[in-house]
Amino acid sequence: LLPASSLLKFLLKVTNWHHPNFHAYYPTASSYPAILGDMLSDAIACIGFSWIASPACTELETVMMDWLAKALGLPDHFLFSSGGRGGGVIQGTASEASLMVFLGARNDAIAKLQAAEPQGEPCELLARLVAYTSEEAHSSVERAAKLAFVRIRSLKTDEKHSLRGDALKQAIAEDRAKGLVPILCIATLGTTSSCAFDNVRELGQICETYFSVNFLGSNREGLWCHVDAAYAGSALLCPELRNFADGIELADSFNFNPHKWMLVTFDCSALFLRDASKIVEIFSADPIYLKHEFTGQPDYRHWQIPLGRRFRSLKIWFVMRCFGISGLQAYIRKHVSLAKEFEALILADGRFEVVEEVTLGLVCFRLKGTNEATEALYRTLREDQRIHLVASKFHSSGVYFLRFVVCSSQCESKDIRFAHSVIMEAANKLAK
Ligand code: PLP
Repeated sequence: LLPASSLLKFLLKVTNWHHPNFHAYYPTASSYPAILGDMLSDAIACIGFSWIASPACTELETVMMDWLAKALGLPDHFLFSSGGRGGGVIQGTASEASLMVFLGARNDAIAKLQAAEPQGEPCELLARLVAYTSEEAHSSVERAAKLAFVRIRSLKTDEKHSLRGDALKQAIAEDRAKGLVPILCIATLGTTSSCAFDNVRELGQICETYFSVNFLGSNREGLWCHVDAAYAGSALLCPELRNFADGIELADSFNFNPHKWMLVTFDCSALFLRDASKIVEIFSADPIYLKHEFTGQPDYRHWQIPLGRRFRSLKIWFVMRCFGISGLQAYIRKHVSLAKEFEALILADGRFEVVEEVTLGLVCFRLKGTNEATEALYRTLREDQRIHLVASKFHSSGVYFLRFVVCSSQCESKDIRFAHSVIMEAANKLAK
């Protein structure tokens, strides 16, 4: 056994994601109310796989999902209280949410194809299915497709790195001509690389109108339109930032991570479904030891891959009650304004350019000219170690850039100016 003191050597290697000089990836949120909510969940230590296993765990989650949907201005069909088939569930991560969507869309499509072609074997039908996403989508989308055994195409984006309706329309037509069956389009609001936004209105309209010849007998038989807004979703708390989600009412499912930008600690990823039965009924397995008579509330075990689940809605309740919508809005607005401050500082130096419109808390910048100069800048900043950021590249153009994200809840204007001064120092050193 290692002595207790040896733990220190591991703890010294902890990366401080909440340091004001941490500007890498996208943020992971933390706040005292969320920590207390998690502690209470650990203290209660229930496993809320079904309503009867812990009624409070299920019931608070349904209420919190409705609170979140309303706070973000999501369409009513995602609310339990709308009385339809929709509702929300907390998944661990956006990756799990995408996988659930893939599995739901896949099984729904196979069931419909089998109804139209009773002689079809599920494996043969599976080989005909195809899903779409943008070349800028997060790698978790590709992984979800692999796990679900569904073919996926990464479609080209426009000059703003946005997936548009025309690209989807053309891909669907090409695939139909080959005898394939398009089933799903995953749009991204706030891509990981550059915080670009797919055109959900255009994509949603195509998903709605493009009927598969084999899909008979329901009024929404087009493609499933899923929106991955893992980071950007929290910004919908602010009405003035909702433009990027135009057309969201056309989505069949929507996911965002309160654990990224809404002051809720990891893990907490909110998935909303227009018709939850597509997932619930398909994955139901009902051994006698899990059965109960009460049907008035969801049994969340059918909405996720694992059976067990923590009481994660507690930390949402703590955060929403402590900060209030106005406190959360102020938090998002502050980060957006710090990002704009950084953008202005960078643009004040003619050697630099910003390569994507700054909408939220991410600034994508580079030294003008070849990639090599920015690659050298990145190496210098990594060696320097005073600030932490990561690099990325656009798929279409191969343009290499640095990502500066406002991450920490402690980040202030002085930290932005400090990061800027470190970057300028590095650029000057390289110029010499
Ligand atoms: N989707 C997008 C757009 C992301 O930016 C990320 C991570 O940053 C993910 C999905 C994956 O998130 P998770 O770690 O919750 O699976």
